Amino acid sequence: GGHRLATAFAAKVWHVETDCLFCKIVAKEIPATIVYETERTLAFRDINPQAPTHVLVIPKGHYRDAAALAAADDGLADEVIKTAHAVAVQEGVHESGYRLVFNTGPGAGQTVFHVHAHVLGGRDLGWPPG
Ligand code: C5P
Repeated sequence: GGHRLATAFAAKVWHVETDCLFCKIVAKEIPATIVYETERTLAFRDINPQAPTHVLVIPKGHYRDAAALAAADDGLADEVIKTAHAVAVQEGVHESGYRLVFNTGPGAGQTVFHVHAHVLGGRDLGWPPG
């Protein structure tokens, strides 16, 4: 699809991909239950939760997967992980333990191609995952 640039705080900009569901959540064009936000990241509840805590953490800018995010090499991947931990603390699952998942590629179950970390917690998490 095409893309445009959105202005955030002051002079901050990020990529917006047209027809990207999570870009639309960032733009508030689609509703989501937002639980945490930083300048460059957003955390919201998964609509189909797989655990008592199931929150998605995304960079506001569009990257298709974790590798593309890491390749940006500007600290944004770090910020996503820090936001995920802050969510776990806020949800009270950081001590019992939580799982961070980046499904990468269709074969691994990635269905939305705007990178997102699943934060899962609040129940016993089996290993290996299904
Ligand atoms: O890793 P994967 O790409 O499959 O994760 C996408 C996630 O986005 C799913 O867990 C799905 O429930 C969630 N989702 C959502 N809100 C939407 C569409 C999908 O939370 N509007």
